[in-house]
Amino acid sequence: MSALLERIAAVVGPHGLITDEATLEPFLIDWRKRYIGRALAMVKPASTNEVAEVVRLCAAERTAMVPQGGNTGLAGGATPDASGTQIILSLSRMNRVRGIDPLNNTLTVEAGCTLVAVQEAARTADRLFPLSLAAEGSCEIGGNLSTNAGGTAVLRYGTARELTLGLEVVLASGEVWNGLRGLRKDNTGYDLKHLFIGAEGTLGIITAAVLKLFPLPRGWATGIVGLDSPESALALLSHARERFGERLTSVELFSDFCLDLVLRHFAESRAPLRARHPFYVLIELADSHPSEHVRQQLEDGLAAALEASLVRDAVIATSEAQTRAVWALRESISDAQAREGKNIKHDVSLPASALAEFIAVTGTALERAYPGVRVVCFGHLGDGNLHYNISSPVGVDADAFLANQETINRIVHDRVVHFHGSISAEHGVGQLRRDEILRYKPPIEMELMRKVKAALDPLGIMNPGKLIARMNQL
Ligand SMILES: Cc1cc2nc3c(=O)[nH]c(=O)nc-3n(C[C@H](O)[C@H](O)[C@H](O)COP(=O)(O)OP(=O)(O)OC[C@H]3O[C@@H](n4cnc5c(N)ncnc54)[C@H](O)[C@@H]3O)c2cc1C
Repeated sequence: MSALLERIAAVVGPHGLITDEATLEPFLIDWRKRYIGRALAMVKPASTNEVAEVVRLCAAERTAMVPQGGNTGLAGGATPDASGTQIILSLSRMNRVRGIDPLNNTLTVEAGCTLVAVQEAARTADRLFPLSLAAEGSCEIGGNLSTNAGGTAVLRYGTARELTLGLEVVLASGEVWNGLRGLRKDNTGYDLKHLFIGAEGTLGIITAAVLKLFPLPRGWATGIVGLDSPESALALLSHARERFGERLTSVELFSDFCLDLVLRHFAESRAPLRARHPFYVLIELADSHPSEHVRQQLEDGLAAALEASLVRDAVIATSEAQTRAVWALRESISDAQAREGKNIKHDVSLPASALAEFIAVTGTALERAYPGVRVVCFGHLGDGNLHYNISSPVGVDADAFLANQETINRIVHDRVVHFHGSISAEHGVGQLRRDEILRYKPPIEMELMRKVKAALDPLGIMNPGKLIARMNQL
């Protein structure tokens, strides 16, 4: 064992240091199995002081650290490089709830709490922590904040950034910044927490956070509608916003091809409506009234949408099991597509006013370039966020089709930028989009980001090579 690892072992104890190759293996590969790295070790500190001490030791040796939470990120941000010289810094042992303040509607948790554990801690105080996404059983709040995760309730409650009031961060120097304030107003200068949220571990290590809580809804209603086109989906979104106001929590879009994939690969799934339609929207309301009342509101609203010919058909879940089945259709799309074969993924956002035209012109351009190409288009319509993935034409080998990735990225991302959108809506940049953002972000923005990085991590030891290219030898 190297002298550095011996010193680290003295800080974190025998449970805090993993060097054995077999145990390390799952942490060296990303969730999509796209990036495989090597590491000197995985270090698992159990407290903020231990994190700070480990960072100081690594800084002294110029050893780079890759923070890791649940390792469910989709941009390769938590995977070490191939050099075998980096340390994975896992926050998973820091999983305590430090406190709940129901009067202030805040919850203070450590970075290694899983998202489900955070939601449950809020529920014990009769409150809601609204961040929710399909990986919530495994992903950790530190990872959620570091990727500024979105999920299914952004429309009403905002992204992870908007749900955070304070942070505790171990800086690249090993100093601890305690910014664990539960304030909704604090105009005392730069709002430093926002630098670390969405920074993907490149500026410091988030060790704890103060999160916003909300009243726990008493009733929910979930429905699925069939529609003609993305234009109709947007008209429905506008109708639903007017009609339901802040009760509207989720508006999720998916195409009939997405449904096709789910029905093909998940034997237990069923088409939600009698007939098939080009597009579907899953719509969910939450309210302080009981579910029967909320369901009635949704029913009345959807009846009005049917009357106005905004939608073709609609169904409302009347039981917990039906609600789960409806959500399972939406949440199984990624897995179903993976089972169909490899594909080229995009996570983009656009102004709502440009979404339908983007889908039309990008689909046409792709079909012209690759006849028969299959577009898997779904996402968080209420946030203008599309997962716009491209599968090979039937009969074309999926692996071979990946060779077209660069050209396909250009077709999709050029149009995203043409319509003033973003090429990474909620998955972050990591390794996956690091070079791609250089093409699309204004040079002055990149320059400002490099200056921030250089100021907070002058040695370049915080997750080097992620988000922005390495700026020194590490
Ligand atoms: C099935 C599935 C569904 C998903 N759905 C959504 C979705 O709907 N919306 C969405 O936004 N995302 C979604 N994601 C991706 C999402 O980014 C991650 O699930 C989650 O936010 C990352 O958390 P994690 O703990 O797994 O982080 P990791 O994967 O471990 O890390 C992600 C990044 O954060 C950094 N990091 C981790 N912890 C810390 C820390 N404490 N301090 C500093 N840096 C840190 C890592 O270095 C890395 O750069 C989904 C992923 C999966 C697998």
